[in-house]
Amino acid sequence: HVYLDNAATTPMAPAVIAAMTQQMQADFGNASSTHWFGRQAHMQLDASRQVIAQSINAQPDEIIFTSGATESNNTAINQVAHEFAARGKHIITTAIEHPSVLQPLKQLEKEGFDVTYLPVDEKGEISLADFDAALDDETILVSIMMGNNEVGSRMPIQAIGERLSQHQAIFHTDATQAYGLLDIDVQALHVDLLSTSAHKINGPKGVGFLYRRNQLMLKPFLRGGEQEKKRRAGTENIAGIVGFAKAVSLLTPAVKAQHQSDYLGFKHQIMTALADAGVDYAVNGSVQADNLNHVFNLWLAGLSTYALQTNLDLDGFAVSGGSACTAGSLEPSHVLIAMFGQASPRISESIRISFGAFTTADDVAAFAQALVKIAQRLHAHSK
Ligand code: PMP
Repeated sequence: HVYLDNAATTPMAPAVIAAMTQQMQADFGNASSTHWFGRQAHMQLDASRQVIAQSINAQPDEIIFTSGATESNNTAINQVAHEFAARGKHIITTAIEHPSVLQPLKQLEKEGFDVTYLPVDEKGEISLADFDAALDDETILVSIMMGNNEVGSRMPIQAIGERLSQHQAIFHTDATQAYGLLDIDVQALHVDLLSTSAHKINGPKGVGFLYRRNQLMLKPFLRGGEQEKKRRAGTENIAGIVGFAKAVSLLTPAVKAQHQSDYLGFKHQIMTALADAGVDYAVNGSVQADNLNHVFNLWLAGLSTYALQTNLDLDGFAVSGGSACTAGSLEPSHVLIAMFGQASPRISESIRISFGAFTTADDVAAFAQALVKIAQRLHAHSK
């Protein structure tokens, strides 16, 4: 079986599993305990926080460990909205955010907040002119993802951060898909809040963090303990946090750059195979070196997502019919709808392929061959 669904989740790196196993076996103490076992655990917590803070040029006490990007996104959005409601009730986001951003915003709309959903073009990109037109004195929060999980498009985070550095609005970015591939500097980008999850970067599931700029005070996420400086009470998931930090330490700038370039090569490998075989296809989004290159979304005109995905699965290739969150249901992708409109055949004739640290050129060659065969067979049947 070949796994090409790394935007949904990634396998853990062996070094991550080793670090976590060691932690669970030998250093299992509660980091709040004052005896030796507790101190060992606390030292690991501190060391992990240091590694992670450094990875985005933040201070260690600006990192709040959470259960993942869903919790980070929900908490960031709800807290900022409620904290700053007296200054204004306007929020800006994009039409293609992850549901863990969109759903809290829908709830806030019901509470009387006014949310602008910036549209995207066929590349899955927003326009800064639209952003500038939306920003006003009432805007208290801007939540825009660093890069998209279904099509890999990038958002102009730096340009927006610069604009907001002279504005009252708090800037939150969901960096879940970008964190493993891009060098992120929260100072240079002028972001106040940043969310991510460990399991997208060969770390464990159920752990992530929220970066929160020190000047920005937030209410406790959970109450009832002193952990995370009283900002999120509850015994820390130290094994998960240690695994997360190990995964981060494996992703040096050189490794990330290599992955970006390898993944771009994989896309060209697949496109060449499809073109050589005369298979009718189009890319949903764009193929550009500075996209999130692990995500590749393809339209195969005339072939249903369901038929493509199930036939690939039978041949041993795991791809997605959209995002994992919507794949279980028959919900069409809100991202493809935002890019191409409700009526586009792309909505029901596309698959998402996503590469990871363990994907090889041989995997991609075998996949491309299988996809060509399946496309030809399905087309023959439909004639
Ligand atoms: N944001 C984005 C862009 C994602 O891709 C995901 C994972 N699909 C999440 C947030 C949520 O992450 P988690 O399920 O780990 O909380």
